Amino acid sequence: MSYDQGNIFAKIIRNEAPAARVYEDEYSLAFMDVMPQVPGHTLVIPKSAAENIHEIDPEVLSHTVRTTQVVSNAVKQAFDAPGIMIAQLNGSAAGQTVFHLHFHILPRFQGLEFSLHAREMQEMDVLQDHAERIKTFL
Ligand code: 5GP
Repeated sequence: MSYDQGNIFAKIIRNEAPAARVYEDEYSLAFMDVMPQVPGHTLVIPKSAAENIHEIDPEVLSHTVRTTQVVSNAVKQAFDAPGIMIAQLNGSAAGQTVFHLHFHILPRFQGLEFSLHAREMQEMDVLQDHAERIKTFL
């Protein structure tokens, strides 16, 4: 499958679709997941076109992973989370639904379950509030 420039994350990168943005630099972007599996669920993506981990330029991947670490540190503090889960899915057989490479950052708490894919949209003002909380720790 070839990269689809019309996918929702490509539109977010081009500012054609709204997102509660947390962090941005030349190569990567972080924003709140619109259907969070837990409060604080954040996504980190490279800005360059790549469907999955197998197609990304290794240097851009390194930078994206570094951004994931920086943002994860901030999410952990902002949500006072004892655990953080990082997830990254490649291909529909693995459960990938948006075909632009992304890392999920999920705050985890002992005994608090979450579903693998959330189905409920969160209000934009709640997501903006969470993004602002995370930004204070960047
Ligand atoms: P995947 O299943 O591909 O690993 O994850 C895709 C993620 O993107 C899901 O967690 C889903 O909630 C999220 N998502 C889908 N559409 C949008 C959108 O328009 N905006 C944002 N911020 N997240 C989205």
